[in-house]
Amino acid sequence: MSWEDNVRRMDPYIPGEQPCFDDMIKLNTNENPYPPAPGVQRLLNGLDADKLKLYPQPDARVLVEALAKEHKVSCENVFVGVGSDDVLGTAFLTFFTSDKPVLFADITYSFYPVWASLYRIPFETPALDKDFRLKKEDYYRPNGGIVIANPNAPTSIAEPASFIEDIVKHNPDSVVIVDEAYVDFGGETCIPLTEKYDNLLVVQTYSKSRSMAGMRIGYAIGNAKLISYMFDVRNSYNSYTMNYPSIVCGAEALKDRAYFESTRDRIVATREMLKEDLRALGFDVPDSSANFLFAEHERVPAKEIFTRLREKHIFVRYFNKPRIDNRLRITVGTDKEVERLVETLKEILR
Ligand SMILES: *Cc1c(COP(=O)(O)O)cnc(C)c1O
Repeated sequence: MSWEDNVRRMDPYIPGEQPCFDDMIKLNTNENPYPPAPGVQRLLNGLDADKLKLYPQPDARVLVEALAKEHKVSCENVFVGVGSDDVLGTAFLTFFTSDKPVLFADITYSFYPVWASLYRIPFETPALDKDFRLKKEDYYRPNGGIVIANPNAPTSIAEPASFIEDIVKHNPDSVVIVDEAYVDFGGETCIPLTEKYDNLLVVQTYSKSRSMAGMRIGYAIGNAKLISYMFDVRNSYNSYTMNYPSIVCGAEALKDRAYFESTRDRIVATREMLKEDLRALGFDVPDSSANFLFAEHERVPAKEIFTRLREKHIFVRYFNKPRIDNRLRITVGTDKEVERLVETLKEILR
């Protein structure tokens, strides 16, 4: 007998690497290439360190109020966390206690099976079809909960809100979590449906469309009862998850809608250009509703392209997993970054 027999052993989620080279082009973790709204920089410049001697507001009031206003819901409909990973982890812990399996797709955000394992939640992973589309009938059977990333990652493909609504409608006895990390780049949000369905939780993040991955802010919107159960669980292990700078910067970022829209529109425009360039180079690339593309070359293996790009300090994401091990997930950067990517690909594929 040893203490090691009592360890909770995990195969953890492996985040994309954060390399550090002056000349690198970082297209591997779906960060935004543009800085946060200028108001966030101004606020940080004027931040009073004296404020840090006190605990932050436990209910992150300022941030919750700003999010409620932004999404036209009440404060009681908003949960906030340390990135949407924290929000999703809390939701798994709160809502998935059934003996029946939680359902999520075979190809989706690879953190879902890790949380399920951490919390000993049984799960099954219905396969996406050959075009990486969800089959909603797969979710019309007994389950302990459902998780859908929409737009999905790493496929970049989105389904309309009506499609998600059908799944929610068929599962009144399960909580359905919709992870909308990429919705601002072309998806249709399910937030309005949370008024109609008390079992629907929609999760969003500041990490992608708001250029604030380093600040760690995520949130969920849902029925007041769902949200209060999540706060009860969170307050049972850490009641001060949101730090003071992230509360005030998160609220500030929402004030500048024009900046948000202009950076989002630039990314969407760059994405469409890059998609055409990749197709011209012989890649199969599905239409994307996110800030990344999911590409497979007709001739050269993804792993080889990945390695050769890496040698040139261009980082994209490669997943050594069934069905997707010949694809690259490429984050949409600035026009300049994407141009250098395309030039380098031309050399590699020659
Ligand atoms: C990036 C991402 C998240 C988590 O982002 P946070 O930085 O923790 O907010 C959640 N879900 C998906 C599908 C993502 O791609």
